[in-house]
Amino acid sequence: MSQNILVTGGAGYIGSHTVLQLLLSGYRAVVVDNLDNSSSVAISRVKELAGEHASNLDFHKIDLRDKPALEKLFASMKFYAVIHFAGLKAVGESVQKPLMYYDNNITGTIILLEVMVAHGCKNLVFSSSATVYGSPKEVPCTEELPLSALNPYGRTKLYIEEICRDVHQSDPEWKIILLRYFNPVGAHPSGHIGEDPCGIPNNLMPFVQQVAVGRLPSLKVFGNDYKTKDGTGVRDYIHVIDLADGHIAAVKKLADPSVGCEVYNLGTGKGTSVLEMVTAFEKVSGKKIPLVMAARRPGDAEIVYAANGKAERELKWMAKYGIEEMCRDQWNWASKNPYGYEKSA
Ligand code: NAD
Ligand code: UDP
Repeated sequence: MSQNILVTGGAGYIGSHTVLQLLLSGYRAVVVDNLDNSSSVAISRVKELAGEHASNLDFHKIDLRDKPALEKLFASMKFYAVIHFAGLKAVGESVQKPLMYYDNNITGTIILLEVMVAHGCKNLVFSSSATVYGSPKEVPCTEELPLSALNPYGRTKLYIEEICRDVHQSDPEWKIILLRYFNPVGAHPSGHIGEDPCGIPNNLMPFVQQVAVGRLPSLKVFGNDYKTKDGTGVRDYIHVIDLADGHIAAVKKLADPSVGCEVYNLGTGKGTSVLEMVTAFEKVSGKKIPLVMAARRPGDAEIVYAANGKAERELKWMAKYGIEEMCRDQWNWASKNPYGYEKSA
């Protein structure tokens, strides 16, 4: 019998890729999403890509803060585990609307945990972020580095991690894996699912993609005076399929009796600058990305990349794809869906 996995936020960018990998690995996936930052077309596309596994996917348009709706779902079936992606993630917006972020991300998580425990499901994989390292004093970032947050979005991740540690401390039956993602980019190699942000993108690669398809005129490079190889910021970009596979590894790890509340970085361990990323994208797409050098973005760290040894040792997981594949798949998705899901051909 396949295990049922509840995936909150499963219509979103990382969620949709993870749901596909879950289905292909033989799990049943039940997605809960309010579609605030996603489209139900993503769910239909995942079903198409899943082929014979498509019938193992169910979708429910539910807001996590709607406790009665969540209760009803948990009463209708047993879940082996929950992968919890649902949350708001725009740093700038979180500075403007902190209460909205605390309510959505933290209240949503508390309600989810309450309903889980009421129905005897105590296995959780949570989407944390490298943002909890703040501006790291040293790289690579090991899981033991001191934690800090630079904005309300980051604080929601930090507080949810602490909530999870407290919940586990109070009841050791809980098994919780906190995954700290570095910078997810790329798309499924088919080009049928990918990232479709609302409005003007905040992140580098969705912005580059929109310049490449002619939706935006040029990329502003936020700072070229950092102490890095070419002066631009350095990050650890990770292919979204590798990230999705990291979740499968985490779900498998939940069966290990030694798991309590654990934290793992999901990154490649390699740092890439903004200019290196743009050059790689230009090479695979054949598109010129006009650049405008701009001031540093407030709150940006100079260099962030992961120490990935812990995930490798304990989850038996390692990223397989490099920058070239990330850019190739980003471009494949962009060129097939220049206006995202709703208006794509
Ligand atoms: P996304 O916005 O594409 O997906 C999040 C999904 O959650 C969306 O489909 C949205 O509609 C849904 N959602 C939001 N609030 C909800 C609620 N209250 N109830 C039900 N559904 C709700 O984002 P993503 O890039 O796929 O990120 C997934 C998770 O990973 C988020 O928690 C994010 O903070 C975290 N994360 C993302 C990145 C990144 O760069 N993309 C990096 C680190 C961590
Ligand atoms: N960046 C940039 N222009 C943009 C968006 C991002 O130069 O329009 C830079 C940013 O300063 C950082 C890197 O690209 O050095 C990655 O930024 P992103 O927002 O994608 O990720 P984060 O900073 O949250 O790790």
